[in-house]
Amino acid sequence: MPKVSRQIVHVDMDCFFASVEILDNPELMNLPIIVGGPSHRGVVASCSYIARAYGIRSAMPISEALSLCPTVRVLGVRHDRYREISQKVMSMLDNFSSTVQQVGLDEAYLDISSSWRSSSAILDLAGEIRDKICRETQIMCSVGIGSSKLIAKLASKKAKPRAYMGIVSGSRVPVVQDGPGIVSIPRYMDADFLRQHSIDELPGIGPATLRKLNDLGIRSIDDLNWVPHASLKTRFGENQANRILDLFNGVDDRAVVPNSAPKSISSEETFSQDLAQLSELTKSIDGCSQSVASRLYSSRTCAKTITLKVKTSQFRDIERSRTLDHRTFDAREIAKIAVDLLKPVLPEGPFRLLGVSASNLGESGQNYLQFTFGPFDGPDHVSGRPRPPISDRNDRLVSTLEEIRAKYGARALIRRHESEDPTLGDVL
Ligand SMILES: [Mg+2]
Repeated sequence: MPKVSRQIVHVDMDCFFASVEILDNPELMNLPIIVGGPSHRGVVASCSYIARAYGIRSAMPISEALSLCPTVRVLGVRHDRYREISQKVMSMLDNFSSTVQQVGLDEAYLDISSSWRSSSAILDLAGEIRDKICRETQIMCSVGIGSSKLIAKLASKKAKPRAYMGIVSGSRVPVVQDGPGIVSIPRYMDADFLRQHSIDELPGIGPATLRKLNDLGIRSIDDLNWVPHASLKTRFGENQANRILDLFNGVDDRAVVPNSAPKSISSEETFSQDLAQLSELTKSIDGCSQSVASRLYSSRTCAKTITLKVKTSQFRDIERSRTLDHRTFDAREIAKIAVDLLKPVLPEGPFRLLGVSASNLGESGQNYLQFTFGPFDGPDHVSGRPRPPISDRNDRLVSTLEEIRAKYGARALIRRHESEDPTLGDVL
């Protein structure tokens, strides 16, 4: 059998978080915006193309972005909303290939090589994918096609709009130019296409690697031709040197691996100012726990281990975990454990960030589900310890709450705080 060349499609949403914010608030259209709040102490998670024209980039400190463009609007990250649209996009992609690998919220690879298609049929397919996503989410995406993940990813980048400062009537103004939207690189052009990139544009070449390559005199892909591989291996070690050689030669046989279930689900909050009070931190724990619980529920999993993470004002990370003897997706139980874990580390505060994560995930099912609220059913026959009740009523209640939140948004139902009426249990 002749070897059929692989056809990989890379779909990448255009400045995804920023596009969602513009979708939800069209007044932001044509303004420089950054997503990455809530305070000015974080980094840019996503920015609009207008912001990019000012030189703002993802992962840049927000303070630096503000110095490049003082009028830039800084918006807080709304992961739940992005996830909602991301799920919509990913389920659309499942209709185009049975081999879809989601990467983060806004990117995916599709392997479409299982059936032979002419190059124009592949372009048609990419057009269909792009049209469908744009039509159904109102958010643009770019599509790259290539014989490997590496080429497909670089191709989707080439397909994106470009932003720069132009001169209009003597003054500098941001200009955003549409990209081609779809770029397909035939296999025989892989080497030429790669050579059009500077080495820092290649995925996996970060600032540290770039510096080391420059030290060896390597500033372009072609420079690798005259540098002895032995010196590359001395500098980087055998494994990394081989990876760099493969990357520069466009050798990438990584498969598109359909996603498996996540290993953990987490939610975190960076505070606009450092917090030290238990009451304030508990509020944040409640919010994070609810977000974790909703995602556990929507992925039909339960967690056995709950981890609390805090970052002190001195940037020190502290993590504390507890493993339960049962699995849970109950926000209230997760929050209670996180608060318990927080109390002993409170003196290390104030804190600039707090996160809750759930791991040790397993399938949900009646056998796993035990709930902490409601009266205890009495001591466990074996251990003699009080045990949480297994209650159909609570099972249905937690499920119903999550169904409503999934349908009408995370804030459709806000639980009344326990202290208001402790006898009511989990009331709305
Ligand atoms: Mg993207």
